[in-house]
Amino acid sequence: MRYICTGCHKEQPVNPDRYRCECGGLFSLSFDKTAPDFSQTAHASDRSLWKYANALPPIDPQIVHETTMGEGGTPLISLGTHLWGKADYYMPTLSFKDRGAVVLVAAMRSMGVHQCVIDSSGNAATAVAAYCTRVGIGCEVFVPAHTSAKKIEQIEAHGAEVHRIPGTREDTADAAIAHVEKTGAFYASHIFNPLFWEGTKTYLYELFEQFGGALPDLLVLPVGNGTLLMGVALALKELKEWGLVDRFPLVIAVQAANCAPLAAAYLAGSVVVHEVPSQPTLAEGIASARPARGAEILQAMHHMGGRFVTVTEEEILASRDALARRGVYVELTSAANHAGYLAALREDGQLGLLDAVVPLCGAGLKSAH
Ligand SMILES: *Cc1c(COP(=O)(O)O)cnc(C)c1O
Ligand SMILES: [Zn+2]
Repeated sequence: MRYICTGCHKEQPVNPDRYRCECGGLFSLSFDKTAPDFSQTAHASDRSLWKYANALPPIDPQIVHETTMGEGGTPLISLGTHLWGKADYYMPTLSFKDRGAVVLVAAMRSMGVHQCVIDSSGNAATAVAAYCTRVGIGCEVFVPAHTSAKKIEQIEAHGAEVHRIPGTREDTADAAIAHVEKTGAFYASHIFNPLFWEGTKTYLYELFEQFGGALPDLLVLPVGNGTLLMGVALALKELKEWGLVDRFPLVIAVQAANCAPLAAAYLAGSVVVHEVPSQPTLAEGIASARPARGAEILQAMHHMGGRFVTVTEEEILASRDALARRGVYVELTSAANHAGYLAALREDGQLGLLDAVVPLCGAGLKSAH
């Protein structure tokens, strides 16, 4: 397994003391993988994402066994004609972040990491804290001070030490990185560490399997720091290379109108993301005014030929209620995906004829409201 710098393209060993390249560039990951046999994995007795082990980073099965909580294999729930929700709120810590966290933490355990630091708006830190405590890795968590109390309670229950940082999500990231630099702890960032997407990519593998060896026509994806989006983009690239798909679904990326730097950059045809004026949003999980992988996310969106939509606070609340009336209780960040689907349909009614999937990727009990 090797890191490749996205800045200077230098290849280097996966060194736990390094979270970015000397040149300041962030890493992508390279290792030998083979295509899952989806006709076989569809019927595997192990329903977790580890049934795709051949396509995941090489990790000792004993360590996987100690780390896993059966994450993955989440159901598709019908939400109407041509619309399904993929219920990642069924995950062990109640969000899709478990996909990335289990792979990252298992890899950390293989590398002999004892202590780590993560910053997040809540769910990524919850997931990393939960898996870390299973394998005896100490975890310090940095969250914005306004993070939902329930998320913080859960993180503390897993034994992690929580630092509440006043200010923006970006201030939280800066504080975490300063702490990493000071203490030399492993930076278990879901944004910086490319091992995380190797887990989130299984979201798309599962869809491919659930649609009978094909992909839905339309994928709605939330984007804050892009960990689900980058995982999906990676999986699409792999499926194409393996000759399993010949075209990409239409990707609709969703941001909150109150904090939409990526949507603004994409619309302006920019290849880099500029910080734009932003306001707080109920969709705390996608409120990232300065996404560290912004340029990579824009590149992935161009490659997939995707579109951005933004959603208002009212639309987010309306979708949370509409989903709840169908029996599906997701957190507000996750309701933004459904609102994004409706917004895309308003712009282009023809999209309603496409088979579409929205992620139901965080549980409702996590939200403050
Ligand atoms: C983390 C998260 C997102 C956004 O993911 P990014 O990696 O920041 O793009 C969306 N919804 C939920 C429920 C999340 O936990
Ligand atoms: Zn570099």
